[in-house]
Amino acid sequence: MLRWVIALLLVTFAGALPAASPPAPKGVTVTVTRGEGDEWIADYQFDQASPVWFFPRSGIDEKGQPWRLQVWTVETPGVRLVRAGHYDLLTADTPLKRVRIRMKLYTDQPEAEYAPVLRFSDGALAFFSDQFYVVPTKSIAAARALPVDLNGVGTDGTPVTLVLSDPGHRLLLRGKPITTGHVSFALDTGNTYLYTGNAPVIDTPAFAGVLDTGLPDWVKAELRDFTPRLMALYRDKLGIPAIGKPMALIAWGGDKPEGISLGGGVVDGMVVMQIRGARALTRSPETTSWMRWFIGHESAHFWMGQTLHYERISEGWITEGAADFLATRALQRLVPEYDPKTDLRDAMHDCLRFVGPMEALSRSEDRGEPRANYGCGAMLLLAAEAATRKHDPKADSFTFLRGLIDANRIDTYVNTREWLERFKLATGDAALTAEVRAFITTGVPDPKAFWRHLFAVTGVDQPVEMKSIKEMMQAG
Ligand SMILES: [Zn+2]
Repeated sequence: MLRWVIALLLVTFAGALPAASPPAPKGVTVTVTRGEGDEWIADYQFDQASPVWFFPRSGIDEKGQPWRLQVWTVETPGVRLVRAGHYDLLTADTPLKRVRIRMKLYTDQPEAEYAPVLRFSDGALAFFSDQFYVVPTKSIAAARALPVDLNGVGTDGTPVTLVLSDPGHRLLLRGKPITTGHVSFALDTGNTYLYTGNAPVIDTPAFAGVLDTGLPDWVKAELRDFTPRLMALYRDKLGIPAIGKPMALIAWGGDKPEGISLGGGVVDGMVVMQIRGARALTRSPETTSWMRWFIGHESAHFWMGQTLHYERISEGWITEGAADFLATRALQRLVPEYDPKTDLRDAMHDCLRFVGPMEALSRSEDRGEPRANYGCGAMLLLAAEAATRKHDPKADSFTFLRGLIDANRIDTYVNTREWLERFKLATGDAALTAEVRAFITTGVPDPKAFWRHLFAVTGVDQPVEMKSIKEMMQAG
Protein backbone atom coordinates (compact mmCIF):
# COMPACT_ATOMS: atom_id res chain seq x y z
CA MET A 1 0.00 0.00 0.00
CA LEU A 2 2.67 2.40 1.00
CA ARG A 3 4.68 1.56 -2.06
CA TRP A 4 1.72 2.24 -4.29
CA VAL A 5 1.27 5.70 -2.78
CA ILE A 6 4.90 6.45 -3.29
CA ALA A 7 4.70 5.26 -6.85
CA LEU A 8 1.70 7.45 -7.47
CA LEU A 9 3.42 10.40 -5.93
CA LEU A 10 6.41 9.80 -8.09
CA VAL A 11 4.27 9.54 -11.15
CA THR A 12 2.46 12.73 -10.28
CA PHE A 13 5.72 14.47 -9.61
CA ALA A 14 7.29 13.26 -12.82
CA GLY A 15 4.19 14.32 -14.70
CA ALA A 16 4.42 17.83 -13.30
CA LEU A 17 8.09 18.27 -14.16
CA PRO A 18 7.95 19.34 -17.80
CA ALA A 19 5.66 22.25 -16.99
CA ALA A 20 8.05 23.53 -14.34
CA SER A 21 11.19 23.33 -16.48
CA PRO A 22 10.90 22.71 -20.22
CA PRO A 23 13.47 20.30 -21.70
CA ALA A 24 16.63 21.99 -22.93
CA PRO A 25 16.40 22.58 -26.69
CA LYS A 26 18.26 19.99 -28.73
CA GLY A 27 20.50 21.41 -31.34
CA VAL A 28 23.47 23.73 -31.54
CA THR A 29 24.48 26.56 -29.26
CA VAL A 30 27.11 29.03 -30.40
CA THR A 31 28.47 31.41 -27.80
CA VAL A 32 30.29 34.49 -29.05
CA THR A 33 32.59 36.33 -26.66
CA ARG A 34 35.60 38.65 -26.75
CA GLY A 35 39.00 37.03 -27.19
CA GLU A 36 42.48 38.52 -27.04
CA GLY A 37 43.06 41.95 -28.52
CA ASP A 38 40.76 42.57 -31.46
CA GLU A 39 39.76 38.91 -31.81
CA TRP A 40 36.54 37.19 -30.80
CA ILE A 41 35.75 33.60 -29.91
CA ALA A 42 32.88 31.46 -31.20
CA ASP A 43 32.27 28.32 -29.13
CA TYR A 44 30.06 25.79 -30.87
CA GLN A 45 28.38 23.08 -28.85
CA PHE A 46 26.75 20.37 -30.97
CA ASP A 47 24.02 18.25 -29.47
CA GLN A 48 23.57 15.95 -32.44
CA ALA A 49 26.02 13.55 -34.03
CA SER A 50 27.21 14.75 -37.42
CA PRO A 51 30.75 14.90 -38.80
CA VAL A 52 29.97 17.75 -41.21
CA TRP A 53 28.20 21.06 -40.51
CA PHE A 54 28.00 23.67 -43.25
CA PHE A 55 27.36 27.42 -43.10
CA PRO A 56 24.42 28.44 -45.33
CA ARG A 57 25.80 32.03 -45.35
CA SER A 58 29.15 31.46 -47.06
CA GLY A 59 29.91 34.56 -49.10
CA ILE A 60 33.01 35.14 -51.18
CA ASP A 61 35.05 38.30 -51.64
CA GLU A 62 35.51 40.10 -54.95
CA LYS A 63 38.43 37.80 -55.79
CA GLY A 64 36.19 34.75 -55.34
CA GLN A 65 37.77 33.74 -52.01
CA PRO A 66 35.55 32.70 -49.07
CA TRP A 67 35.73 35.46 -46.43
CA ARG A 68 35.35 33.08 -43.47
CA LEU A 69 38.43 31.02 -44.31
CA GLN A 70 40.53 34.20 -44.24
CA VAL A 71 39.64 35.22 -40.69
CA TRP A 72 38.33 32.21 -38.72
CA THR A 73 40.84 29.82 -37.13
CA VAL A 74 39.67 26.54 -35.60
CA GLU A 75 41.44 25.92 -32.28
CA THR A 76 39.92 22.51 -31.56
CA PRO A 77 42.37 19.73 -32.56
CA GLY A 78 41.16 17.51 -35.39
CA VAL A 79 38.48 19.92 -36.62
CA ARG A 80 38.90 21.62 -40.00
CA LEU A 81 37.21 24.60 -41.63
CA VAL A 82 37.14 24.02 -45.41
CA ARG A 83 35.28 25.09 -48.54
CA ALA A 84 33.18 22.63 -50.53
CA GLY A 85 31.24 23.95 -53.51
CA HIS A 86 29.30 27.04 -52.48
CA TYR A 87 29.73 26.51 -48.73
CA ASP A 88 32.23 26.70 -45.88
CA LEU A 89 31.98 23.78 -43.48
CA LEU A 90 33.33 22.37 -40.23
CA THR A 91 34.39 18.75 -40.31
CA ALA A 92 36.35 16.11 -38.39
CA ASP A 93 36.83 12.33 -38.57
CA THR A 94 34.33 11.86 -35.75
CA PRO A 95 31.05 13.68 -35.03
CA LEU A 96 31.61 17.23 -33.79
CA LYS A 97 30.93 17.96 -30.12
CA ARG A 98 32.60 21.21 -29.12
CA VAL A 99 34.44 23.46 -31.53
CA ARG A 100 36.27 26.63 -30.57
CA ILE A 101 36.97 29.20 -33.26
CA ARG A 102 39.09 32.35 -33.07
CA MET A 103 37.74 35.13 -35.26
CA LYS A 104 39.37 38.23 -36.67
CA LEU A 105 36.74 40.82 -37.52
CA TYR A 106 35.81 40.85 -41.21
CA THR A 107 34.23 44.22 -41.97
CA ASP A 108 34.25 44.17 -45.79
CA GLN A 109 31.12 43.30 -47.67
CA PRO A 110 31.31 39.96 -49.47
CA GLU A 111 29.73 39.69 -52.95
CA ALA A 112 25.93 40.01 -52.72
CA GLU A 113 26.08 39.23 -49.01
CA TYR A 114 25.84 41.11 -45.74
CA ALA A 115 29.05 42.31 -44.09
CA PRO A 116 29.78 39.86 -41.25
CA VAL A 117 30.74 42.70 -38.90
CA LEU A 118 30.14 46.45 -38.80
CA ARG A 119 32.76 48.40 -36.91
CA PHE A 120 31.87 51.80 -35.49
CA SER A 121 34.51 54.44 -34.91
CA ASP A 122 33.87 54.48 -31.13
CA GLY A 123 34.79 50.78 -30.97
CA ALA A 124 31.21 49.48 -31.04
CA LEU A 125 30.50 46.45 -33.24
CA ALA A 126 27.51 44.82 -34.86
CA PHE A 127 27.49 41.13 -35.83
CA PHE A 128 25.43 39.71 -38.68
CA SER A 129 23.49 36.98 -36.87
CA ASP A 130 23.15 34.26 -39.50
CA GLN A 131 26.89 34.04 -40.23
CA PHE A 132 26.90 31.67 -37.23
CA TYR A 133 24.07 29.46 -38.50
CA VAL A 134 25.11 25.85 -39.26
CA VAL A 135 23.29 22.89 -40.76
CA PRO A 136 24.39 19.22 -40.52
CA THR A 137 24.96 17.16 -43.64
CA LYS A 138 26.27 13.63 -44.10
CA SER A 139 29.49 14.24 -45.97
CA ILE A 140 31.72 16.81 -47.61
CA ALA A 141 30.57 15.45 -50.96
CA ALA A 142 26.95 16.08 -49.98
CA ALA A 143 27.81 19.66 -49.02
CA ARG A 144 29.68 20.15 -52.30
CA ALA A 145 26.57 19.07 -54.21
CA LEU A 146 24.33 21.70 -52.57
CA PRO A 147 23.02 24.46 -54.86
CA VAL A 148 23.48 28.22 -54.27
CA ASP A 149 19.80 28.50 -53.39
CA LEU A 150 18.80 26.34 -50.43
CA ASN A 151 15.11 27.32 -50.68
CA GLY A 152 13.15 24.11 -51.16
CA VAL A 153 16.22 21.87 -50.75
CA GLY A 154 14.94 20.47 -47.45
CA THR A 155 17.95 20.80 -45.17
CA ASP A 156 17.83 19.43 -41.62
CA GLY A 157 16.08 21.91 -39.33
CA THR A 158 18.31 21.55 -36.26
CA PRO A 159 17.75 24.64 -34.09
CA VAL A 160 20.77 26.88 -33.59
CA THR A 161 20.89 29.28 -30.66
CA LEU A 162 23.24 32.25 -30.78
CA VAL A 163 24.46 33.62 -27.46
CA LEU A 164 26.34 36.91 -27.57
CA SER A 165 27.99 37.72 -24.29
CA ASP A 166 29.81 41.03 -23.87
CA PRO A 167 29.64 42.04 -20.20
CA GLY A 168 29.91 45.75 -19.54
CA HIS A 169 28.42 46.68 -22.92
CA ARG A 170 24.88 47.46 -23.89
CA LEU A 171 23.51 45.23 -26.63
CA LEU A 172 20.79 46.05 -29.13
CA LEU A 173 18.60 43.30 -30.55
CA ARG A 174 16.03 44.47 -33.10
CA GLY A 175 16.00 47.90 -31.48
CA LYS A 176 15.57 46.57 -27.96
CA PRO A 177 18.38 47.55 -25.57
CA ILE A 178 19.78 44.75 -23.39
CA THR A 179 21.72 46.16 -20.48
CA THR A 180 22.97 42.84 -19.07
CA GLY A 181 25.48 42.46 -21.91
CA HIS A 182 24.09 39.01 -22.62
CA VAL A 183 21.56 37.91 -25.23
CA SER A 184 20.39 34.54 -26.53
CA PHE A 185 18.09 33.90 -29.48
CA ALA A 186 17.24 31.35 -32.18
CA LEU A 187 18.92 31.79 -35.56
CA ASP A 188 17.23 31.39 -38.94
CA THR A 189 14.18 33.28 -37.69
CA GLY A 190 15.00 36.45 -39.61
CA ASN A 191 18.43 37.92 -40.15
CA THR A 192 19.51 40.75 -37.95
CA TYR A 193 22.57 42.58 -36.69
CA LEU A 194 23.44 42.43 -33.00
CA TYR A 195 24.98 45.67 -31.81
CA THR A 196 27.30 45.85 -28.85
CA GLY A 197 28.38 49.31 -27.77
CA ASN A 198 27.26 52.29 -25.79
CA ALA A 199 26.21 54.92 -28.35
CA PRO A 200 22.77 56.45 -27.80
CA VAL A 201 19.88 55.35 -30.01
CA ILE A 202 18.67 58.38 -31.90
CA ASP A 203 15.18 58.89 -33.25
CA THR A 204 14.55 60.70 -36.56
CA PRO A 205 11.29 61.07 -38.47
CA ALA A 206 12.40 58.32 -40.88
CA PHE A 207 14.33 55.87 -38.72
CA ALA A 208 15.63 55.11 -35.25
CA GLY A 209 19.09 53.75 -34.60
CA VAL A 210 22.77 54.32 -34.14
CA LEU A 211 24.49 56.92 -36.28
CA ASP A 212 28.27 56.69 -35.86
CA THR A 213 29.48 59.94 -34.29
CA GLY A 214 32.58 59.70 -36.49
CA LEU A 215 30.60 60.07 -39.74
CA PRO A 216 31.46 63.22 -41.70
CA ASP A 217 28.95 65.96 -40.81
CA TRP A 218 27.61 66.28 -44.32
CA VAL A 219 26.88 62.52 -44.41
CA LYS A 220 25.00 62.77 -41.11
CA ALA A 221 23.06 65.71 -42.52
CA GLU A 222 22.13 63.73 -45.67
CA LEU A 223 21.02 60.73 -43.61
CA ARG A 224 18.90 62.92 -41.34
CA ASP A 225 17.45 65.28 -43.96
CA PHE A 226 17.31 63.36 -47.22
CA THR A 227 16.08 60.01 -45.86
CA PRO A 228 12.72 61.34 -44.57
CA ARG A 229 12.02 63.06 -47.91
CA LEU A 230 12.83 59.86 -49.76
CA MET A 231 10.77 57.62 -47.47
CA ALA A 232 7.84 60.03 -47.80
CA LEU A 233 8.04 59.84 -51.60
CA TYR A 234 8.18 56.03 -51.58
CA ARG A 235 5.27 55.87 -49.11
CA ASP A 236 3.24 58.22 -51.25
CA LYS A 237 3.96 56.29 -54.45
CA LEU A 238 4.18 52.68 -53.25
CA GLY A 239 1.90 52.60 -50.22
CA ILE A 240 2.58 51.85 -46.57
CA PRO A 241 5.57 49.51 -46.10
CA ALA A 242 5.04 46.30 -44.15
CA ILE A 243 7.41 47.33 -41.39
CA GLY A 244 7.08 50.16 -38.88
CA LYS A 245 9.82 52.72 -38.41
CA PRO A 246 13.05 51.02 -39.52
CA MET A 247 16.03 50.56 -37.29
CA ALA A 248 19.32 51.82 -38.74
CA LEU A 249 22.91 51.00 -37.85
CA ILE A 250 25.22 53.31 -39.74
CA ALA A 251 28.96 52.93 -39.24
CA TRP A 252 31.86 55.09 -40.32
CA GLY A 253 34.81 52.95 -41.42
CA GLY A 254 37.45 55.68 -41.61
CA ASP A 255 39.29 57.43 -44.45
CA LYS A 256 40.65 54.32 -46.24
CA PRO A 257 40.50 53.61 -49.18
CA GLU A 258 41.24 56.76 -51.16
CA GLY A 259 37.89 56.70 -52.94
CA ILE A 260 34.51 56.13 -51.36
CA SER A 261 32.91 52.86 -50.30
CA LEU A 262 29.20 52.63 -49.59
CA GLY A 263 28.17 49.20 -48.32
CA GLY A 264 24.82 48.29 -46.93
CA GLY A 265 21.90 46.00 -46.69
CA VAL A 266 18.40 45.62 -45.36
CA VAL A 267 17.46 42.84 -42.95
CA ASP A 268 14.12 42.37 -41.22
CA GLY A 269 13.07 45.95 -40.47
CA MET A 270 16.64 47.12 -40.23
CA VAL A 271 19.03 48.92 -42.55
CA VAL A 272 22.78 48.74 -42.05
CA MET A 273 25.35 50.92 -43.78
CA GLN A 274 29.11 51.07 -43.68
CA ILE A 275 30.51 54.26 -45.18
CA ARG A 276 34.22 54.82 -45.64
CA GLY A 277 36.95 56.32 -47.76
CA ALA A 278 38.85 59.60 -48.05
CA ARG A 279 36.50 60.92 -50.71
CA ALA A 280 33.55 60.59 -48.32
CA LEU A 281 35.17 63.21 -46.04
CA THR A 282 34.07 66.11 -48.20
CA ARG A 283 30.82 67.00 -49.84
CA SER A 284 30.97 67.46 -53.59
CA PRO A 285 28.27 67.19 -56.26
CA GLU A 286 29.46 63.60 -56.96
CA THR A 287 29.67 62.41 -53.36
CA THR A 288 26.29 63.98 -52.55
CA SER A 289 24.71 62.28 -55.53
CA TRP A 290 26.28 58.88 -54.68
CA MET A 291 25.17 59.14 -51.05
CA ARG A 292 21.61 60.03 -52.03
CA TRP A 293 21.48 57.25 -54.59
CA PHE A 294 22.78 54.80 -51.98
CA ILE A 295 20.13 55.92 -49.45
CA GLY A 296 17.56 55.65 -52.26
CA HIS A 297 18.59 52.07 -53.07
CA GLU A 298 18.66 50.83 -49.48
CA SER A 299 15.41 52.59 -48.47
CA ALA A 300 13.63 51.12 -51.50
CA HIS A 301 14.24 47.67 -50.02
CA PHE A 302 11.69 48.39 -47.28
CA TRP A 303 9.16 48.06 -50.11
CA MET A 304 10.88 45.77 -52.64
CA GLY A 305 12.63 43.32 -50.31
CA GLN A 306 10.65 43.66 -47.07
CA THR A 307 7.03 44.42 -48.01
CA LEU A 308 7.57 41.98 -50.90
CA HIS A 309 10.29 39.32 -50.66
CA TYR A 310 11.55 37.31 -53.58
CA GLU A 311 10.89 33.58 -53.36
CA ARG A 312 14.22 32.28 -54.55
CA ILE A 313 17.76 33.64 -54.82
CA SER A 314 17.41 33.33 -58.60
CA GLU A 315 14.75 36.08 -58.34
CA GLY A 316 17.09 38.63 -56.75
CA TRP A 317 16.80 40.66 -59.98
CA ILE A 318 13.22 41.55 -58.95
CA THR A 319 14.23 43.32 -55.73
CA GLU A 320 17.75 44.54 -56.60
CA GLY A 321 16.61 45.80 -60.00
CA ALA A 322 13.71 47.58 -58.34
CA ALA A 323 15.93 49.18 -55.71
CA ASP A 324 18.28 50.55 -58.41
CA PHE A 325 15.39 51.70 -60.59
CA LEU A 326 13.54 53.34 -57.68
CA ALA A 327 16.68 55.14 -56.47
CA THR A 328 17.10 56.63 -59.94
CA ARG A 329 13.48 57.74 -60.26
CA ALA A 330 13.31 59.07 -56.67
CA LEU A 331 16.43 61.18 -57.20
CA GLN A 332 14.99 62.57 -60.40
CA ARG A 333 12.03 63.87 -58.41
CA LEU A 334 13.84 65.08 -55.30
CA VAL A 335 17.12 66.43 -56.69
CA PRO A 336 16.67 68.93 -59.51
CA GLU A 337 20.27 68.67 -60.78
CA TYR A 338 20.27 64.84 -60.89
CA ASP A 339 20.55 63.34 -64.38
CA PRO A 340 19.65 59.63 -64.45
CA LYS A 341 21.47 59.02 -67.75
CA THR A 342 24.76 57.91 -66.18
CA ASP A 343 23.18 55.47 -63.73
CA LEU A 344 20.98 53.95 -66.43
CA ARG A 345 23.98 53.63 -68.76
CA ASP A 346 25.84 51.83 -65.96
CA ALA A 347 22.90 49.47 -65.44
CA MET A 348 22.77 48.61 -69.17
CA HIS A 349 26.53 48.13 -69.18
CA ASP A 350 26.45 45.70 -66.24
CA CYS A 351 23.54 43.79 -67.71
CA LEU A 352 25.26 43.29 -71.09
CA ARG A 353 28.52 42.45 -69.36
CA PHE A 354 27.13 39.79 -67.05
CA VAL A 355 24.43 38.13 -69.16
CA GLY A 356 25.85 36.75 -72.41
CA PRO A 357 24.24 34.71 -75.19
CA MET A 358 22.13 31.83 -73.78
CA GLU A 359 22.92 32.85 -70.22
CA ALA A 360 19.82 33.05 -68.01
CA LEU A 361 19.45 36.10 -65.78
CA SER A 362 18.05 33.78 -63.11
CA ARG A 363 21.35 31.84 -63.05
CA SER A 364 23.62 34.83 -62.54
CA GLU A 365 24.21 33.97 -58.84
CA ASP A 366 25.32 30.45 -59.87
CA ARG A 367 27.72 31.99 -62.36
CA GLY A 368 29.13 34.16 -59.57
CA GLU A 369 27.83 37.33 -61.24
CA PRO A 370 25.22 38.78 -58.89
CA ARG A 371 25.77 42.28 -60.37
CA ALA A 372 23.62 41.14 -63.29
CA ASN A 373 20.56 41.24 -61.03
CA TYR A 374 20.94 44.98 -60.44
CA GLY A 375 21.55 46.12 -64.00
CA CYS A 376 19.20 43.76 -65.84
CA GLY A 377 16.48 44.07 -63.18
CA ALA A 378 16.54 47.86 -63.56
CA MET A 379 16.49 47.64 -67.38
CA LEU A 380 13.46 45.31 -67.30
CA LEU A 381 11.68 47.88 -65.14
CA LEU A 382 12.56 50.59 -67.64
CA ALA A 383 10.60 48.60 -70.23
CA ALA A 384 7.74 47.92 -67.81
CA GLU A 385 7.59 51.62 -66.88
CA ALA A 386 7.40 52.76 -70.50
CA ALA A 387 4.77 50.13 -71.39
CA THR A 388 2.64 51.14 -68.40
CA ARG A 389 2.74 54.81 -69.40
CA LYS A 390 1.87 54.00 -72.98
CA HIS A 391 -1.39 52.34 -71.94
CA ASP A 392 -2.25 54.51 -68.95
CA PRO A 393 -1.81 58.27 -69.36
CA LYS A 394 -2.09 58.79 -65.59
CA ALA A 395 0.73 56.34 -64.84
CA ASP A 396 4.14 57.43 -63.61
CA SER A 397 7.46 55.68 -62.94
CA PHE A 398 6.08 54.07 -59.79
CA THR A 399 2.80 52.71 -61.16
CA PHE A 400 4.11 49.34 -62.33
CA LEU A 401 5.81 48.52 -59.02
CA ARG A 402 2.85 49.85 -57.02
CA GLY A 403 0.63 47.37 -58.90
CA LEU A 404 3.08 44.55 -58.25
CA ILE A 405 3.25 45.40 -54.53
CA ASP A 406 -0.52 45.72 -54.11
CA ALA A 407 -1.17 42.45 -55.94
CA ASN A 408 1.22 40.53 -53.66
CA ARG A 409 1.01 42.47 -50.40
CA ILE A 410 -0.99 39.80 -48.56
CA ASP A 411 1.37 36.84 -49.01
CA THR A 412 4.43 39.18 -49.03
CA TYR A 413 6.18 37.19 -51.77
CA VAL A 414 6.76 37.91 -55.43
CA ASN A 415 8.14 35.48 -57.96
CA THR A 416 9.10 35.56 -61.64
CA ARG A 417 5.70 34.28 -62.77
CA GLU A 418 3.88 37.06 -60.88
CA TRP A 419 6.29 39.70 -62.21
CA LEU A 420 5.72 38.49 -65.77
CA GLU A 421 1.94 38.46 -65.27
CA ARG A 422 2.12 42.15 -64.34
CA PHE A 423 4.37 42.77 -67.33
CA LYS A 424 1.88 41.12 -69.64
CA LEU A 425 -0.88 43.22 -68.13
CA ALA A 426 1.21 46.39 -68.71
CA THR A 427 2.17 45.56 -72.31
CA GLY A 428 -0.84 43.51 -73.39
CA ASP A 429 1.75 41.59 -75.40
CA ALA A 430 2.00 37.84 -74.78
CA ALA A 431 4.79 37.29 -77.34
CA LEU A 432 6.95 40.02 -75.82
CA THR A 433 6.31 38.63 -72.35
CA ALA A 434 7.49 35.22 -73.58
CA GLU A 435 10.71 36.81 -74.86
CA VAL A 436 11.32 38.42 -71.48
CA ARG A 437 10.61 35.09 -69.76
CA ALA A 438 13.22 33.44 -72.01
CA PHE A 439 15.78 36.13 -71.16
CA ILE A 440 15.17 35.50 -67.45
CA THR A 441 14.88 31.72 -67.37
CA THR A 442 16.90 30.25 -70.26
CA GLY A 443 18.86 33.04 -71.88
CA VAL A 444 18.54 34.41 -75.43
CA PRO A 445 20.91 33.94 -78.40
CA ASP A 446 21.57 37.67 -78.84
CA PRO A 447 21.06 39.76 -75.69
CA LYS A 448 21.68 43.09 -77.49
CA ALA A 449 19.06 42.27 -80.10
CA PHE A 450 16.67 41.27 -77.29
CA TRP A 451 17.08 44.62 -75.51
CA ARG A 452 16.82 46.66 -78.73
CA HIS A 453 13.59 44.90 -79.62
CA LEU A 454 12.18 45.19 -76.09
CA PHE A 455 12.98 48.91 -75.90
CA ALA A 456 11.62 49.57 -79.40
CA VAL A 457 8.28 47.87 -78.67
CA THR A 458 7.79 49.45 -75.23
CA GLY A 459 9.15 52.86 -76.22
CA VAL A 460 12.30 53.19 -74.12
CA ASP A 461 14.93 55.68 -75.25
CA GLN A 462 18.08 54.02 -73.96
CA PRO A 463 21.25 53.06 -75.87
CA VAL A 464 21.91 49.31 -75.76
CA GLU A 465 25.66 49.56 -75.50
CA MET A 466 28.39 48.81 -73.07
CA LYS A 467 30.45 51.79 -72.01
CA SER A 468 33.79 52.27 -73.73
CA ILE A 469 37.00 51.91 -71.75
CA LYS A 470 37.58 55.65 -72.19
CA GLU A 471 34.17 56.42 -70.76
CA MET A 472 34.77 54.12 -67.79
CA MET A 473 38.12 55.77 -67.05
CA GLN A 474 36.52 59.21 -67.08
CA ALA A 475 33.86 58.03 -64.65
CA GLY A 476 36.43 56.51 -62.29
ZN1 LIG B 1 20.11 46.09 -52.60
